[in-house]
Amino acid sequence: MNHNGMNRYLMAAARANQWHQDYRKQMKKCRFDTIATHGIYSMQEALDFNQGSIIEPTYLSTSQAYRDSDEMEAALSYKIPTWCYSRIANPSIYYLEGVLALLEGYGSEAETSCIATSSGMAAIQSAIDPFLLVDQKQPQAPMNFVATTQVYGGTFQQFSIRKSCERNVEWRKVVHSTDLSEWESLIDDNTRFLYGEIPSNPCLAFFDIKKVARLAHKYGIPLIIDSTVATPALLRPIEHGADIVVQSVTKTLSTSGFGIAGAIISRKNIVSKIDNPEMKADFATYLKLLPNRDNGPNISPMNAILALNDIRTIRMRIDNVSRSTMKVAQFLMQHKHIEKVDYLGLKNHPLHQLASDYMFLVDSEYDDQYGERVNRYGHLLSFNINGNAKQTRDVFDAFTRIWRATDLGRIKSVATIPAISTHSQQGEEGRKLACIEANTIRLCVGVEHPDDIIADLSQALSVLEGKTVKVSAPEYSAGGASSARLRIE
Ligand SMILES: *Cc1c(COP(=O)(O)O)cnc(C)c1O
Repeated sequence: MNHNGMNRYLMAAARANQWHQDYRKQMKKCRFDTIATHGIYSMQEALDFNQGSIIEPTYLSTSQAYRDSDEMEAALSYKIPTWCYSRIANPSIYYLEGVLALLEGYGSEAETSCIATSSGMAAIQSAIDPFLLVDQKQPQAPMNFVATTQVYGGTFQQFSIRKSCERNVEWRKVVHSTDLSEWESLIDDNTRFLYGEIPSNPCLAFFDIKKVARLAHKYGIPLIIDSTVATPALLRPIEHGADIVVQSVTKTLSTSGFGIAGAIISRKNIVSKIDNPEMKADFATYLKLLPNRDNGPNISPMNAILALNDIRTIRMRIDNVSRSTMKVAQFLMQHKHIEKVDYLGLKNHPLHQLASDYMFLVDSEYDDQYGERVNRYGHLLSFNINGNAKQTRDVFDAFTRIWRATDLGRIKSVATIPAISTHSQQGEEGRKLACIEANTIRLCVGVEHPDDIIADLSQALSVLEGKTVKVSAPEYSAGGASSARLRIE
């Protein structure tokens, strides 16, 4: 092997790495909106490598070519910056990971890194699997993890079926997540990590992150938080001591609804009893270079660039939709056909005070409009109809503006009945643990004018008084004869 040949690349790589590190440091000093907009993509890179394009590159290419065997060898042993093969890395994915790392680490001294994944579920699996290693000295030793029961339906299934039933990894369930002694009573020597989702989907559970992080670290294990519903524009768990954050980038971070995406963001030097210094030093980078390279749950460049483009406006969007959601929640609260409304922004919500200690519109103190820290609570809420399952479906079926879909985070308002959709598979017992009832409707408010959403809710609720809502629809969709969808009476 011609070492001199490779040396040329190694020296160039050292200079490039230094340049990128310095640039990242510069960007870390910018305000949130500036980071969200530019991420780690610079004008210098655009001019030198991307034909000056003001938008990050999208290479829908499987792989990268090398100048010679020296460069290839250096690249494939991760000695020089490379993206080599799109399962492992790709320029669009690189910029998405760069911006998410900075946004989750915003306002904190902690250095962060990120790996994007094909979905939020892949992010959760990738984040927990490295902690569920069989102890080679005691291969029969039981393993467990301690996690809240109020989690997204997919997470519930992953934990209960894929981990507990199929792999014999016990899910020790925290039912009252604000009760620190309940968390602690479930931890033992075989506990690998603590996990929680806040605010939870759909019932908006919340717990004191700082206290749970301290508890995890007391036992030498990491705290993993699913922060999808809040996004880094409202809450950054790493700042409060969490080790790892998972995001379903599909949701509020990407508003357009063009694709599924996920991400894991970790602080440097996480806490874990697993004896793997490389993993603990930089968890997300370790995942990227090793386990996820081998397991392959990685995002496509197209989905990465679409997500990246949406993330630029996250702060202003979450402010807008949070304010609208507050209005909608207040309307529902005083409505005679509503049994209860779960929204952390409502003063009478039992977790309002706790959530208010954590959930702020990032940088509102530097915003001319506010000039102080203001609380914002996101755009997910759930409410229970004063009625049974059938009446709940009647109200749901009467929506004309709010879309019936198992989705959230969209620019358009969407609603679902969790008991028959997102949380149907976990069964009655599992739903009880997650506080989901047959009369619960989950609503995620979009950027429409809130008055129009309130009007839609109001007319839909009137079906409980025997009023019928007649919606006229065209006989055919607008797609023309060849692609029309026939109307069913
Ligand atoms: C949707 C969702 C997930 C799963 O994300 P996908 O991108 O759909 O795989 C995980 N956590 C929460 C809180 C979610 O809402």
